[in-house]
Amino acid sequence: MAQQVPTIALNDGTRMPQLGLGVWQVPDEQASAAVQAALEAGYRAIDTAAIYGNEEGVGAGLRTSRLARKDLYITTKLWNSYHGYADAHKAMDESLTKLGLAYVDLYLIHWPVAGSDRFVDAWRAMIEMREDGRARSIGVSNFTSANLRRLIEGTGVTPAVNQIELHPAFAQEDMRVFHAEHGIATESWSPLGQGKMLDHPVLAEIGKQHGKTPAQVMIRWHLQHGLVVIPKSVTPARIRENINVFDFTLTAQDMDAIDGIPEADRLGPDPEKFAMA
Ligand code: NAD
Repeated sequence: MAQQVPTIALNDGTRMPQLGLGVWQVPDEQASAAVQAALEAGYRAIDTAAIYGNEEGVGAGLRTSRLARKDLYITTKLWNSYHGYADAHKAMDESLTKLGLAYVDLYLIHWPVAGSDRFVDAWRAMIEMREDGRARSIGVSNFTSANLRRLIEGTGVTPAVNQIELHPAFAQEDMRVFHAEHGIATESWSPLGQGKMLDHPVLAEIGKQHGKTPAQVMIRWHLQHGLVVIPKSVTPARIRENINVFDFTLTAQDMDAIDGIPEADRLGPDPEKFAMA
């Protein structure tokens, strides 16, 4: 049976599904089938990016569905080499063409790009995209609190979302507090720790008590913390497993036990240093 995903309110008056499918490292030719499997399972949100090289496949997958556009929630991201005002506008049009869409629900600056110092210019273009309707909501990814302050102070427009690396072994408590203070939704990337946490004994034990897998326990942990979560899979059974999380609740004790998993190194690049073009 298709699952119903709750939505959360964003600071611009829109709502965003709290769970979606991530498609990083999904080849363009596999993206359509993955999106189709996700939509059939009840997902309505897809998280892609220009740099993933699969916006065309994602668009093809969306077109297999008879769902109304208003019922879908599509996120894509502005790549690092397109910072700056004019380039950002161009990049958005390229993404829309590839996706075959007139608008995206959420457009994110993918990385702040340490050293280039052009993300405020890109943000000014994105504010216009929200005004002209090409993006319903605008946000950022991998931004530090200092980066966020610069955007807010420089333009008066607070991002709706900051998508950051976040999983039980890298729980980003400081960023979650900063986001809450500024009305920014926190979206967790690599929410399953890129699959590396699936045999963690704490998660396995909690899963056993609820008749759920460690992946499902982790996804519930994100949801119960009020985070937006975008697990990636191309395997239909796992895609279904990852959305089959709305028939159980982690207890306060379960949440404390997962919160208590010791902090490990981040899996992805350090946003203060990452500057790949
Ligand atoms: P993830 O934490 O979602 O883990 C994915 C891995 O777990 C895959 O190898 C998959 O095969 C495995 N897996 C998924 N479900 C499973 C299940 N039920 N049982 C067993 N194994 C399972 O990793 P991710 O892809 O890095 O992150 C998710 C999404 O976050 C990406 O696809 C992308 O959309 C987004 N992301 C964004 C950024 C960014 O810079 N903004 C960076 C990385 C990822």
